[in-house]
Amino acid sequence: MNTKARQKLSRGKCSTKYCRGKRVHHSTKCPKCRHRRRKETDFVGYVFDYFKQNAKRRGKCVDLTKAEFTKFVTDSEYLKFKGKTKFSLSIDRIRNEDGYTVNNIRAITLSENSSKRNNVDYSDVPF
Ligand SMILES: [Zn+2]
Repeated sequence: MNTKARQKLSRGKCSTKYCRGKRVHHSTKCPKCRHRRRKETDFVGYVFDYFKQNAKRRGKCVDLTKAEFTKFVTDSEYLKFKGKTKFSLSIDRIRNEDGYTVNNIRAITLSENSSKRNNVDYSDVPF
């Protein structure tokens, strides 16, 4: 196969080896590979975007910078323990009526979070 034919073949295809996805017009990779690469090179940024999207979908406001979020996940070891098990950490809002701000988030386990939902305890509310 000559070079011209090879170029023609690769046009519109993702540049990742073995990937058969279609690249997006402004990139050499398909959305799936771009996504995967983001996850590898900027994992906190990837989690932050995911978190913001999630919050937005649930109508919650996020008033956090990436630097604040990075500090939070580093201090709380959220990235290490996040997941779907009972003991995984999730990001909780301390005051439920407020959005995700730097003073209103904490990392608690999923089991703590769900028991909080079922059995609302107002005893530590100062007013
Ligand atoms: Zn791809």
